Amino acid sequence: MIRKKVLVTGGAGFVGSHLCERLLNEGNEVYCLDNFFTGQKQNVVHLLKNPYFELIRHDVTTPFFIEADEIYNLACPASPIHYQYNPIKTMKTSVMGAINMLGLAKRINAKILQASTSEVYGNPLVHPQPESYWGHVNPIGERSCYDEGKRAAETLFIDYHKQNHVRIKIIRIFNTYGPRMHPDDGRVVSNFIVQALKNQDITVYGKGEQTRSFQYVDDLVEAMIRMMATPDSFIGPVNTGNSNEFTILELAEKVIRLTGSKSKIIYKPLPSDDPMMRKPDISIAKKELDWSPKIQLEEGLIKTIDFFKTII
Ligand code: NAD
Ligand code: UDP
Repeated sequence: MIRKKVLVTGGAGFVGSHLCERLLNEGNEVYCLDNFFTGQKQNVVHLLKNPYFELIRHDVTTPFFIEADEIYNLACPASPIHYQYNPIKTMKTSVMGAINMLGLAKRINAKILQASTSEVYGNPLVHPQPESYWGHVNPIGERSCYDEGKRAAETLFIDYHKQNHVRIKIIRIFNTYGPRMHPDDGRVVSNFIVQALKNQDITVYGKGEQTRSFQYVDDLVEAMIRMMATPDSFIGPVNTGNSNEFTILELAEKVIRLTGSKSKIIYKPLPSDDPMMRKPDISIAKKELDWSPKIQLEEGLIKTIDFFKTII
């Protein structure tokens, strides 16, 4: 067995912790780098006893040096309330983080995967969204620090590849949920489950007619591992998400039913620039990664509800 050395930035976050776990289970040596802005030691505490796991406190906006075969670049707050808390820092994390990690990949000849996002499509005018769509993004709105930061990071990845032959991979992740989401990060799945388990009002923004397509975290991790393993000639970008689309109101009703909650739905103002619809075209992932999501919404929600029951 070949034990690869793998650096995961943002490894103590929701997605990163699942990725670290999977990489360790496959026999790799994992360096989990995080500044603990939205991630927590708690997410990886069960991995600390593994001698092939190292937890490193570091901020990706400053350079970092290590020997590694592969880098997964996940460091960046992902929920609107967290990335809007300090928008300048969010942009720095995406852009300077990308520059520092690409510089490292170039120096040590590592393969590097960027966790990009469906937010690069903004409030899309094309539905579902294929990778060829350039997006409809407000450069000066509430979401811009995240959307434009991630778009700039994609540009940097492509240019390091063209100019310096760095071996890159770009995936565009659509809304992902599962155990270890932060209960206070404001994302819709965690908000609704926490509210339902506490029998509090379920806060639907706008009329709840906006749509999202929810991907369970294990499906995402599988897509990331497969993407990293593709030949160097394949760089993406590749959408990864579940193509089953739901309105936010449908999600609220499902969560109430699955938790057996007494919560009532209430309506709150829709945040500005909130995308009205989002659904991935996953034909490239199916073809190039031989991948499609396995866990559908109700099954994934049940697993996520079980997790939240243990922490609330
Ligand atoms: P998360 O907030 O749980 O994880 C992000 C991690 O990055 C946290 O552990 C945080 O502490 C760390 N981090 C933030 N800024 C950092 C910095 N400057 N230096 C070092 N570490 C830093 O969010 P997540 O949902 O796990 O998202 C992981 C990645 O996937 C992010 O890049 C996000 O943009 C991307 N993504 C996630 C989703 C989703 O639905 N979860 C969708 C699209 C893209
Ligand atoms: N949303 C909601 N109630 C909440 C949290 C979010 O209705 O308590 C809505 C939000 O306005 C958006 C959708 O759910 O339309 C998904 O929000 P999230 O923050 O999870 O992700 P994103 O908007 O980045 O896709």
